[in-house]
Amino acid sequence: MSYVDEVYEYVVAKNPAQPEFHQAVKEVLDSLRVVIDANEDEYRKDALLERLVTPEHQILFRVPWVDDKGQVQVNNGFRVQFNSAIGPYKGGLRFHPSVNLGISKFLGFEQIFKNSLTGLPIGGGKGGSDFDPKGKSDREIMAFCQSFMTELFRHIGADTDVPAGDIGVGGREIGYLFGQFKRIRDSYEGVLTGKGLTYGGSLARTQATGYGLLYLTQELLKCNGSDIKGKTIAVSGAGNVAIYAIEKAQQLGGKPVTCSDSTGWIYDPEGIDVELLKEIKEVKRARLSEYAAARKSAEYHEKKNGEHGVWTVKCDVALPCATQNELDLEDAKALVANGVQAVCEGANMPTTIEATEYFQQNKVMFVGGKAANAGGVATSALEMSQNSERLSWTFEEVDQKLQQIMVNIYHNIDNAAKQYGCEGNYVAGANIAGFLKVAEAMKAQGIV
Ligand code: GLU
Repeated sequence: MSYVDEVYEYVVAKNPAQPEFHQAVKEVLDSLRVVIDANEDEYRKDALLERLVTPEHQILFRVPWVDDKGQVQVNNGFRVQFNSAIGPYKGGLRFHPSVNLGISKFLGFEQIFKNSLTGLPIGGGKGGSDFDPKGKSDREIMAFCQSFMTELFRHIGADTDVPAGDIGVGGREIGYLFGQFKRIRDSYEGVLTGKGLTYGGSLARTQATGYGLLYLTQELLKCNGSDIKGKTIAVSGAGNVAIYAIEKAQQLGGKPVTCSDSTGWIYDPEGIDVELLKEIKEVKRARLSEYAAARKSAEYHEKKNGEHGVWTVKCDVALPCATQNELDLEDAKALVANGVQAVCEGANMPTTIEATEYFQQNKVMFVGGKAANAGGVATSALEMSQNSERLSWTFEEVDQKLQQIMVNIYHNIDNAAKQYGCEGNYVAGANIAGFLKVAEAMKAQGIV
C-alpha cells in the first residue's frame, strides 16, 4: 500500500466519527501523491505525514455561563493547535451548534496549508464552541465570551497562538474575548486579530476575506482570458465573507444576484443591494426575508430540505461563502448545466469531493478555500505585524498588500500545478505549494 493510503487509513482508524476531518485529510493527501511518492522513503522514515495529520495540542474545556433568566448553561470549548512549524498557531474561533472536535480538526488542518500559502509566518490552528449565538442578548454573548476566555487564556499569546473570528464570531465577540484576556493576563498584546480599530485592529480586516476572494478570482479569470466585469455571480451566505465578496464583485463590475442564510435565500436579478444587506445582517442581525420585504426586485425562497437554493440560478461565477459541504454533486451538475465558468470558495470546504471532481472533469476553473479565502487570515497576519511594531497602516496600504498576496497565491498555485504535471488543477497546486513549505520547516526542526 502506498504511504498516502496507509496514512489515510491511519487517520480514519485513529479519529473515529470525524467525517469532515477525514474528508479534509483525504483531499490534501490525494493531491500530494506526486510529491509524497517521489520522497516516500524519507517521509515514511520520519513519519512526516503521521505528524502532519496529528495536532500538536488539542484543548477541550467546559464553558459554563448564566443566561438572562438566571439559568446556568454549559457549552463545550475547543482549541486545536495543529501545526507550528512556520509560525505561531493562527486561525479562527467558530461559535455554532455544529462545532465539535472533528469540525475543529478539519478547520485547523486546512488552516495549516492556507496559512502557508499566504507566504506569512503563521502556523495552523482553529477552535470554537457549540454555543449558538442566535437570539442571544448582548449580555449573554458577553457572559459566554468571558467564560470561554477564562479557560482559553492560559493556552494563547501573541507568540504562541493567535485566534480570530469565524462563523458566529465577529467584532463584538472579539472585543469581549480581548477584554477578558487583558483583565486576566494583565497584558496588552496582539493575542487576537479582528480587533476593533480603537484597540489594535487593522483597517481592511473586516473586508479582507471577501475582497481577497475577488482579487484572486479576478486574477484567475484574467489569466484565463476573461474578467469579472459583466459576469453574473451566485454567492451563498450572508455573513462577513459573503457581504464583502458581493461589495468587491460590484466594484469590479460584476453582478452578484444571490445570497443565503440558515432560513432562506434571495434572488435579486438587478444585483444585490449591499448597503441594505449590511443593514439587515450587520446592524439589525435579522433574517434575509427582511431584504425581500424592503426590495421589489428580490425574490425570497424559504430553505426547504433537498432544495438546491442559490446554485440553481444561472451564473458565470459561483462563490460559495456559507459553510462546509454546502455545494454537492447535484448542485455542481446544475451549475455546469447553466454554464458556470469558475467556482472559487469563500468558505472552508464548502464543496464536496464529488462536486469538486465534477467541476474539474467539466473544465470549470475551481479554486478551493485554502487559496481563495486566505485573504482573511493573511490580513490577520498583517494585523499581528502592526501590533508588533505598535503602528497602524492606512486602509490603502493594507488593501494593496492584500491584493498582492492574493495575486501571488494564484500564481504560486498555478505554477505548482504546472510543475507537478497537473496544470489547471488549482486544488492540487494549493495543497502542494502549501505543503512543501511546512514539510521543509518540519524537516529542518527535527523530530518534534
Ligand atoms: N476564520 C478565518 C479563516 O478561516 C480567519 C482566521 C484568522 O484570521 O486567523 O481563515
